[in-house]
Amino acid sequence: MKIALVIVDMLNDFIEGPLKTKEAINTVKATELVLDAFRVSKLPVIYVNDHHYINDFEIMIWGKHAMADTDGSKVFAAIAPQEGEYIIEKHTYSGFYGTPLEFILRTNKIDAIMLVGLDADICVRHTAADAFFRGYSIFVVRDAVAARIDQSWEQYFVSVYGAKIINSDSVKKIINQ
Ligand code: ZN
Repeated sequence: MKIALVIVDMLNDFIEGPLKTKEAINTVKATELVLDAFRVSKLPVIYVNDHHYINDFEIMIWGKHAMADTDGSKVFAAIAPQEGEYIIEKHTYSGFYGTPLEFILRTNKIDAIMLVGLDADICVRHTAADAFFRGYSIFVVRDAVAARIDQSWEQYFVSVYGAKIINSDSVKKIINQ
């Protein structure tokens, strides 16, 4: 198994801006741990970030957030990307939709992804769906995601995508298998 880390929408607007939830800030520490494990193991790190234009379909649902080239669309400073890491701009929930994510996974010979970020039941979930359709194995780090609407996301991921739900303290063991 070769695994890549996919970090979804860990952006200022989701952590301390208009789309923040109470739990979002609590995912930062666990995300740092996971990120560190991937960096040490030299496995691919891919940020998939909302980068909205005013006419993007979801703006009428959520209002303006993570607008292109604003501070709100920047990755939260504590987990900022480093040189050589991938940064993908997306315009709706899935990290795959209209982006080069699948191309990047294929060029790195990836067959599993580990998901962290916001929100577990929206963008992480739609990214998981698209990963499932393409045959990738899916891991989700429980303490590095937070849900907005559906707190039973975990059962859904396991039942529908065959995802493995893990804690950040077991990431090291899993990625070095
Ligand atoms: Zn958005």
